[in-house]
Amino acid sequence: MSNFAARTVRCRIASFRPRWACDRLRFSTSTRRPLMDLAGFSEEQLMVREAISAITAKFPNTYWQECDQNERDPKEFHAALAKDGWLGIALSEELGGAGLGVSEATMMMQTITQSGAGMAGAQAIHANVYATQPLARFGTKAQLEETIPKIINGTWRTCFGVTEPNTGLETLKLKTSATKTAAGDAYSVTGQKIWITCAQVASKMILLARTTPIEEVKKSTQGLSMFCIDLNRSTSGLDMRRIKKMGGRAVDANEVFFDNYQIPASTLVGQENEGFGIILHGMNAERCLLAGEALGLGYAALERAAQYANDRVVFGRPIGQNQGIAHPLADAYMKLEAAKLATYHAAKLYDASQTDSSIPFHSVGVACNSAKYLAAEAAFTACERAVLTHGGMGYAMEYDVERYLRECLVPRIAPVSREMILNYISEKVLQLPRSY
Ligand SMILES: Cc1cc2nc3c(=O)[nH]c(=O)nc-3n(C[C@H](O)[C@H](O)[C@H](O)COP(=O)(O)OP(=O)(O)OC[C@H]3O[C@@H](n4cnc5c(N)ncnc54)[C@H](O)[C@@H]3O)c2cc1C
Repeated sequence: MSNFAARTVRCRIASFRPRWACDRLRFSTSTRRPLMDLAGFSEEQLMVREAISAITAKFPNTYWQECDQNERDPKEFHAALAKDGWLGIALSEELGGAGLGVSEATMMMQTITQSGAGMAGAQAIHANVYATQPLARFGTKAQLEETIPKIINGTWRTCFGVTEPNTGLETLKLKTSATKTAAGDAYSVTGQKIWITCAQVASKMILLARTTPIEEVKKSTQGLSMFCIDLNRSTSGLDMRRIKKMGGRAVDANEVFFDNYQIPASTLVGQENEGFGIILHGMNAERCLLAGEALGLGYAALERAAQYANDRVVFGRPIGQNQGIAHPLADAYMKLEAAKLATYHAAKLYDASQTDSSIPFHSVGVACNSAKYLAAEAAFTACERAVLTHGGMGYAMEYDVERYLRECLVPRIAPVSREMILNYISEKVLQLPRSY
């Protein structure tokens, strides 16, 4: 029995030990080894990774190429994750979720992008995982019972409606209004949202809208409210238009127009005018998920680059023998590993802060924002190097790295841009004057 086989068998005997943990032992014997070092992850995280990998294995790169080229929603992928309950990974067991935390959800999102699904795979389910967090925390019993099970089992998909064309990152200035009707049992919504992912396929939207004009509130954080609304296309006052975009084309992104669109008053989540605080609750979690998604994409690209650098022979030697090719890939690897540590540190802190009140909100915010920034930048470095390593073939769809490069811009822009994170760290950590 070879050493390799013995190790594999030993891994099998330890029944709790997931396949990905076993892969770590194969480092010296297989060129198909995963690049990411799995040391230090918890048993739960590794088990999530293994289970999600079993699902993503059914969706090869050709599936994602086809969805991307035809702008076709990856509904089979969403259904496969929903079937096994993964959309409720970070929801409590009482709500029908898996009762795991953001640390495991981040691993799930990373495993998805890393499989080759890229940001399209992540975005197909992303909002269902994080937008349900504030709902779970602040929703009424009736809202939870009606909505959460159907989101977890995939009957309903949800989208997140915050960004507006005329206010951009200045969320507190958003203009979409929700005005209570005279009878008091409904709100009338008027305004425009932009870049709303999955609005075409979603039945529900988590909507942030203004319920009190900005001129009438004492603090700029007041006057906004969160709703969980139906996207009823047969009702008047709702329209949407798909935006043609650079990457993640399988997943729709939209302008959404509301014109006196009627929503029941019972769709309000939490207190009226306190919606900004409620939405904030999910934002740090979302930063961790995005960081995980960026990491997965970066490792996927780097793995493809290392493989190609080994296989491609020019001037009588593998191109990876040239330090001009090898060193940037080594640099990209270390950047990803550093960002990985920052990401899972942030996720751990976030989870711990849910029960440990001694962890300051500030520390969680700094960690989550830093992680998102670092992971997005590291992913960009890796994806760009992967294309350059492939030379002309880096530009060909069949090698996937061009798709990864197109997609890796998203974590740099959304949900908060790299510049705004730099502003945040400058102001909140370095205590420099606010620049805007
Ligand atoms: C693919 C994709 C999917 C998305 N999905 C969703 C979704 O599902 N739901 C949703 O609500 N939103 C979504 N968004 C929107 C996303 O969150 C916003 O695009 C992002 O927050 C940036 O806002 P903006 O585009 O209005 O940029 P702007 O606010 O117009 O900013 C433009 C540029 O100026 C910079 N800038 C602005 N102010 C400052 C300042 N004071 N200092 C330094 N730099 C500054 C920004 O960093 C940025 O580089 C998505 C976006 C994309 C691209």
